[in-house]
Amino acid sequence: MFPRFFVLEEGVLWSHYDAEVDKAEPVNRREGVDCPRCGAPIGMMQWLPPYRANLELHGKEFGDFIEALGDDLLISERFAQAFRDEGLTGLEGFHSVELLRVRRKGRGPKPSNVPHYFAVTACFGRAAVDLARSHIRGAQPPACAECRSMQFKSIYGFSLEPGTWQGEDIFRPRGLHGVLTVSERFERFVARHGFTNLRMTPIEEYVWDPHAPEPLPNTKEGSA
Ligand SMILES: [Zn+2]
Repeated sequence: MFPRFFVLEEGVLWSHYDAEVDKAEPVNRREGVDCPRCGAPIGMMQWLPPYRANLELHGKEFGDFIEALGDDLLISERFAQAFRDEGLTGLEGFHSVELLRVRRKGRGPKPSNVPHYFAVTACFGRAAVDLARSHIRGAQPPACAECRSMQFKSIYGFSLEPGTWQGEDIFRPRGLHGVLTVSERFERFVARHGFTNLRMTPIEEYVWDPHAPEPLPNTKEGSA
């Protein structure tokens, strides 16, 4: 059976679990990862200790997953524990985050039930984007066979080259390092535990088009 993959994003803006994380000063960083073959930058700046942050709740309650700036992700302790207990792979770091200030946007009582969060990053996977079976507009064939970095204008669904995936449950594919991709096992794991603020779209249906007229076109009709 051919494995299925999903793009992972946080819940939509202003949803029930919408929250914003700000890394608290001093924020120490180091340069992101470069491709070992061609030197192209493939990773964003990396967050170094101390892992301190401020949280602002925009929705009603905090979820299990929050995207921070850069490649950093915050996951709740419950999520981190289950991820490790069940042997899922692809997340790195697991640095305990000290929350300095937690507040709510606008009026209302101070947020309660604030999870303990861990900072993680998703690994760079071996799985490579299959350009011939993807709908990536404005893409030139990548110059480097290792990182497959390319410029493009939009994504209307993509596929991964058969045989390139090494089994990671969450990863950044070669060619689309900015797109968090997860396995079917990850998708079932999230559903089974009821983890919140994670949105998963089959990669064949994923749309990213910063120039698209609103509302975004419905890709379900056109996809195979
Ligand atoms: Zn390269």
